[in-house]
Amino acid sequence: MKIGVIGGGQLGRMLALAGTPLGMNFAFLDPAPDACAAALGEHLRADYGDQDHLRQLADEVDLVTFEFESVPAETVAFLSQFVPVYPSAEALRIARDRWFEKSMFKDLGIPTPEFADIQSQADLDAAVARIGLPAVLKTRTLGYDGKGQKVLRSAADVAGTFAELGSVPCLLEGFVPFTGEVSLIAVRARDGETRFYPLVHNTHDSGILRLSVASSDHPLQALAEDYSSRVLKQLDYVGVMAFEFFEVDGGLKANEIAPRVHNSGHWTTEGAECSQFENHLRAVAGLPLGSTAKVGESAMLNFIGEVPPVDQVIAIDDCHLHHYGKAFKVGRKVGHANLRCADQATLQAQILKVQALIAE
Ligand code: AMP
Repeated sequence: MKIGVIGGGQLGRMLALAGTPLGMNFAFLDPAPDACAAALGEHLRADYGDQDHLRQLADEVDLVTFEFESVPAETVAFLSQFVPVYPSAEALRIARDRWFEKSMFKDLGIPTPEFADIQSQADLDAAVARIGLPAVLKTRTLGYDGKGQKVLRSAADVAGTFAELGSVPCLLEGFVPFTGEVSLIAVRARDGETRFYPLVHNTHDSGILRLSVASSDHPLQALAEDYSSRVLKQLDYVGVMAFEFFEVDGGLKANEIAPRVHNSGHWTTEGAECSQFENHLRAVAGLPLGSTAKVGESAMLNFIGEVPPVDQVIAIDDCHLHHYGKAFKVGRKVGHANLRCADQATLQAQILKVQALIAE
């Protein structure tokens, strides 16, 4: 079976690493000459709207999937004429726009921060008067890793801020005084069967994920699964989806969804019976889902900007290096380390060792 992937970054690369043992082959569509997934399959180097190359991809592969959600809607619609596409155009339409996303949560009875659609500075001023400060202004589309957003703490932060974010449609959200951030990785098959990995605790810095720790028997697991199931059913979703939540007042508020494999699920490569990457491929290919059970105690630490010396990373016991083969650049995710340990105490000790390497 040959899988077409829109995007050829590290998520595409890790999908191919998981699918190759299943006998799958891969083709990646990505305009970047140095797309790091290209080492693992065919690279169609073209823009996402290039219909000649989209047609070529559709002719070559059995199905198409995505490694990012900001794919132009026309690209998805065009491909869907010729080849099965998972997840669906509708799932991508909702997930790529924060207004559609939060409106769907609200319609499904899933708690969210207060939010308002912002099309002008006047809208922003009115929404701040209603929601109050602090608040977070985010572009509706194309934001990631803390880009395209600004925390508003005082009236001085509000003036002129719509223009500062590019005068594009935005969402204003009430600032959530969360006690923690967790994510749930779910996988749904074509027949509707759904499985969930254990909730993951996430730590961000400057809007970028730094550390994910898989939980055991988290008291909010059932609630997170309930909220996520509502979304998956609503979208008749196929594949892996990530749900990010704020932990607040002993409950959860939904922040966002990602209709794809997710950074906070990278630990599953060594830390679960079947990884998020393999389960995504199983789901989209119509194959039986794999077990989402945890194996040992796991964490993932991102390498941002550079990967520490390889010999030093792999010298740490229980540590598995994932090097993306990308050029090092400030603020860029270039690799991660997965730790899988026998118990929590060992895991915490090994996390400190990897963090010490990152700090050097
Ligand atoms: P996002 O791009 O929406 O995932 O936001 C990136 C990070 O900014 C989140 O992981 C939070 O740490 C923080 N953040 C986003 N929205 C809010 C909010 N409404 N209240 C508090 N912190 C937020």
